[in-house]
Amino acid sequence: MNAGAEDDFLSNPRVLEQYGLLREIGIFRHIDNLNNEIRGYKNILNSASDIFNRATIDDIMDATVWQLSDHFLPSFIFFILRPLQNKETITTKGYKNYKMIDLSLDIDSIAPFEAFFQEYKKPISYDLLLERMEDKETVRVMEDLHPELVVPIIGPSGLYSLILIGSKLLGDKYNTQELNYLTQLMSFVAQAIQNHLHYEYSVRDVKTGLFNHGFFMSRLNEELARVRRFKKPASLMVLDVDKFKNFNDSYGHLAGDRVLEAIALTLKNCVRTEDIPSRFGGEEFTVLLPDTGKDTAWIVAERLRTQIAGMTVPWSPPLPRVTVSIGMVSFTGNDQAGPEEIIKRADEVLYLSKERGRNRTTVWGTGLLFRLEQTKQEKPGGLPVADEIEGAVL
Ligand code: GH3
Ligand code: MG
Ligand code: MG
Repeated sequence: MNAGAEDDFLSNPRVLEQYGLLREIGIFRHIDNLNNEIRGYKNILNSASDIFNRATIDDIMDATVWQLSDHFLPSFIFFILRPLQNKETITTKGYKNYKMIDLSLDIDSIAPFEAFFQEYKKPISYDLLLERMEDKETVRVMEDLHPELVVPIIGPSGLYSLILIGSKLLGDKYNTQELNYLTQLMSFVAQAIQNHLHYEYSVRDVKTGLFNHGFFMSRLNEELARVRRFKKPASLMVLDVDKFKNFNDSYGHLAGDRVLEAIALTLKNCVRTEDIPSRFGGEEFTVLLPDTGKDTAWIVAERLRTQIAGMTVPWSPPLPRVTVSIGMVSFTGNDQAGPEEIIKRADEVLYLSKERGRNRTTVWGTGLLFRLEQTKQEKPGGLPVADEIEGAVL
């Protein structure tokens, strides 16, 4: 339609007549309502995509709080998340004006709320919750905080979280539309948490929480490619618990499991965030050290070895200390060794550590002469190593 035709259209008496009729039957109110609804959907989609884009649980919590704060300007938000993935305690976080604040609540589990919210899967006012839930004491934990709303996040494996939301700073009550927004948003948050858990389960070993074999292999491949491209070295160590079969036979598999968990914790705590400690399988672990040459990797290996040898694992009866043997290989991209070859080299020198008496580190090198040379020149460097705990470079 050209501009002239449009003018004709707007001044056409028949159109004006229809316009009056349309207004009479409420069509424009209806269009306004539809526009509001569309705006609501846009809001929820924006909020959901922001939340879905977050990679960690902490970020998901922060993004959710950000969205709720934007939407409602509440006096406070208190997030309670049940333990996920090997964690034993709940996570709580308080927020005011988009910032984390110290809010405390005497709560160590949200399990007592599970049955109620499995029935009633929506946000509910604190007062109504107190009235409806049989176990009043459980609810009264929130008395001091006195939230206006208690919002459940329910996913495929139950109640993940409760969000306590304070009254609005502007004073008005939460209306039905806003409660609907909350219900919808929480179903997205539950999905985001579930996605995160699926991802974590796919890359982590359940017993130790370290990365699993599959994830380690794909990172090793990536690291090899990076080393070749940027000509920066990387290192890999393989750790194997010494005489672990004997240990299990004497103290039982459960005690053995506890030891593996303790070793995993030591590995996690003693390496940089960019390093990749994994459970290779059974009582074998690997640590991949990007951007790390032989000398530094040696220091790291010896530090891990001595830390593990010094661990005490609480158990009754008391357990003896365990040690690990380590095989370490650095790669510089100078040869064409693929991931299998790199692992084979680390295994070779791990075997030498075993053969030479266990509880020691051996570094892979090419050729006998090179190895002898290294033995003469290099002392176990870096950290002090106890006399009876000997490191070695072959
Ligand atoms: P070496 O010093 O030569 O490595 O001796 P080893 O006894 O550690 O080696 P071997 O390969 O003979 O035995 C490995 C043992 O590790 C046997 C197995 O029961 C134990 N093991 C593997 N995975 C687990 C696990 O998840 N939990 C427990 N408790 N034990 C495990
Ligand atoms: Mg083994
Ligand atoms: Mg072993």
